[in-house]
Amino acid sequence: MEEFDIIVAGAGMAGALAATAAAQKGAKVLMLDRNDSTQVGKKTNWGWVCGDAVAKSHIDFIEKELNIKLSSPVLDLRVDGVQVLSPDMQNKFPFEGEGFSLDRPKAAKFFAEMAVKAGAEYRTHYEVEGPIIESNKVIGIYGRNEKGEQVKIGSKLVIDTLGIASTLRRKLPPNEYIENTVSTDDIESTGRYIMKFERDGSDINYYDPKNALIHLNQILAPGGYGWVFPKTGGRINVGVGVEKKSLEIRNERLSKKDTLHSLIDEYIKWNPNIKSYEIDPADGNGKGYWSVTVKRQFDSLVFPGYMGAGDSMAMPNPISAGGIGPAMVAGVLAGEVAGDAVAAKDTSLERIWEYNVKYNNLYGNKTAALEAFRIYLQSLNNDLINYGMSHFLTKKEAEDISYGRIPKIGIAGTFNKVLSGIGNINAFKNLLFTVQKMKRMNELYSKYPRISEFSEWKKLINGEMAEVKERFKPNPV
Ligand SMILES: Cc1cc2nc3c(=O)[nH]c(=O)nc-3n(C[C@H](O)[C@H](O)[C@H](O)COP(=O)(O)OP(=O)(O)OC[C@H]3O[C@@H](n4cnc5c(N)ncnc54)[C@H](O)[C@@H]3O)c2cc1C
Repeated sequence: MEEFDIIVAGAGMAGALAATAAAQKGAKVLMLDRNDSTQVGKKTNWGWVCGDAVAKSHIDFIEKELNIKLSSPVLDLRVDGVQVLSPDMQNKFPFEGEGFSLDRPKAAKFFAEMAVKAGAEYRTHYEVEGPIIESNKVIGIYGRNEKGEQVKIGSKLVIDTLGIASTLRRKLPPNEYIENTVSTDDIESTGRYIMKFERDGSDINYYDPKNALIHLNQILAPGGYGWVFPKTGGRINVGVGVEKKSLEIRNERLSKKDTLHSLIDEYIKWNPNIKSYEIDPADGNGKGYWSVTVKRQFDSLVFPGYMGAGDSMAMPNPISAGGIGPAMVAGVLAGEVAGDAVAAKDTSLERIWEYNVKYNNLYGNKTAALEAFRIYLQSLNNDLINYGMSHFLTKKEAEDISYGRIPKIGIAGTFNKVLSGIGNINAFKNLLFTVQKMKRMNELYSKYPRISEFSEWKKLINGEMAEVKERFKPNPV
């Protein structure tokens, strides 16, 4: 069996950066992907399906860590930020700061070439089928090459960057660190078009050339949201994400039979700024559908011989579904920790646990709180969201939440806000409950456990989240 120090399975955002970081540390790295090099990073036959938006802070991080400089065409358009609009379009909250729209196909190619320049070997047309396990440790992978032959490859560490449907994660033996599957309640079905459009009107609540727009609306996008993200060349990335149960409830209550596909078309019709459009044919990446998780990342990102980064570890942000940034941050950290572990000739679980701690400190520590907030949000109908966005939270408080900071709305806040209507008062009480739970989650994550404390810690997290899930059920209409 061929042997490498590190196998990076999947050459998407997380994979190419993990391979680069590990190779920069001097490890013998093999990066594998099922696609050929012209289609690297392509998630499905539908293309590089994504909203393409990423915060500048994440770009800054990888530039600094990997000593690179990104520019056009990888960075397609700079935007001032993301704006979240209420269903009645009367309130607009800022969410995350300055950012970019990426050209995903070009970015993926750039990152894969960067990994090769750093010294990683890159093999295309390799279909990863599962991990090779020996004595409860991953010691390599098996899969099929271009000719369909089964090829096993050994390694000291495998970094799983295969995306949401990762066959490596699903085939890990049952263990306390990483679950094999994600509940459908924690998944958004999403789809998007990249299109050239003719604009009608100038209302920047529907299309804003300087901001990415998110439309909360439980009728148009039950359990999720719709988005209009600007790109260069008069193009936009327009899409919808929905949660399965919310869509079913909404369809039943409104006697409708909408699907994700029909909802995207309805959302485009709803937007008065889009007079006409044609799908951008570039790279065959104009129309696509795929899934995103909206939960906290797996409580551990490592298992003996195995590390995971990006969508394979459920890393997208639970409220925005933004997964590029976390995939980049995690890819770099996983690659660095793996490279250092190989150099130190210690690839034990104890050694690679450091990756859990580093990811938690940089990004992961806020996502459990955001998951709780997402579950609360999905329990509100349009009227309650409208009311909440004008009465419950100030723009500053909402922005704080988006960064994982817990706003100080306690009992004092209740008296300061003039609330009317029993539904609204209950929704506000529920917000206070959620904020308390978010605080508790942040406390727990501020003390990310050592291996020996992990089981107990995980029980506490699961217990808190179970209470949130018990209290809030999808209720879009
Ligand atoms: C519609 C939509 C909109 C989104 N919008 C945004 C957004 O605006 N901003 C944002 O930050 N995030 C967004 N996301 C999420 C973001 O796209 C992902 O978080 C990101 O692509 C994760 O990168 P990754 O490298 O972990 O996985 P992926 O990009 O999925 O890469 C996985 C790689 O592994 C390869 N692979 C998979 N299985 C195998 C196998 N068995 N054998 C060999 N190779 C394999 C694939 O070909 C691919 O190259 C969106 C997602 C969707 C679906």
